[in-house]
Amino acid sequence: MNKLNFLTPGLPMASEGKGYNEGLKIIKEMNLDGMEVEFVHGVKMNEQTQQFVKKYTEENNLTITCHGPFYINLNSLEEDKIEASIQRILETARAGKNIGAYSITFHAAFYMKKSPKEVYKTVYKSMEQICSILENEGNTVWIRPETTGKGTQWGTFEEIVKLSKEFKYVLPCIDFSHIHARYNGIYNTYDEFSHILEYMGRELGNEVFDNFHAHLAGIEYGAKGEKNHLIFEESDMNYKDLLKAFKNFNIKGALVCESPNIETDTKLLKDYYLSL
Ligand SMILES: [Zn+2]
Repeated sequence: MNKLNFLTPGLPMASEGKGYNEGLKIIKEMNLDGMEVEFVHGVKMNEQTQQFVKKYTEENNLTITCHGPFYINLNSLEEDKIEASIQRILETARAGKNIGAYSITFHAAFYMKKSPKEVYKTVYKSMEQICSILENEGNTVWIRPETTGKGTQWGTFEEIVKLSKEFKYVLPCIDFSHIHARYNGIYNTYDEFSHILEYMGRELGNEVFDNFHAHLAGIEYGAKGEKNHLIFEESDMNYKDLLKAFKNFNIKGALVCESPNIETDTKLLKDYYLSL
């Protein structure tokens, strides 16, 4: 990646359900840099659309990432649900490859009242399976478990960084709003954001800064962490200092703005970043 790309979370609101053709055109017209395709309710995109997305984004130099289904739990108490979760991640990676995606992300697991150490081992086992299947298929899309917003969900940034060290094509997707919500309001200053970035550089090498995948949105949270996404204006999320840190660490890659007003806040982030 040669720059920081600002991606909408799915189709812009202005495309009014008219599909990828219209949606990607709006992204381009707004001078945004691409889209995270939201396979959150299942990996459903017909072949014709897949081909269109790949061709259009290549021709227009747009970046695509994918978000896997919400129904994933690599630490389910039921074996068949773990298997279905693995399949959903594989489907996301395969569709990702077909549409020319740079990276895919998903929420990997819940603790299910088990110890973090035990859950790590369980997640590791599934990850090993996923990585070896994709390697056999020649699929080199980045596989990125996301930092999660609730204490019941596996996925602190330390856990995901640790897992990333074990596999060639695994790296974190850092959702800064989730981290802020999970820790009930901390991780919201320039120094706190820098702490996360420094940690990543130390553990994964500074190359990680050239190859980033992050999420950011306004967020509402309580004692149990994330409640829901908000627009920046209605939240305390300090996106300005985060973007300053991104600038100073020279972060390149994909930043997906997950605010509910989609393209409006994505544009807000990009404009602020360019003003720095
Ligand atoms: Zn997510």
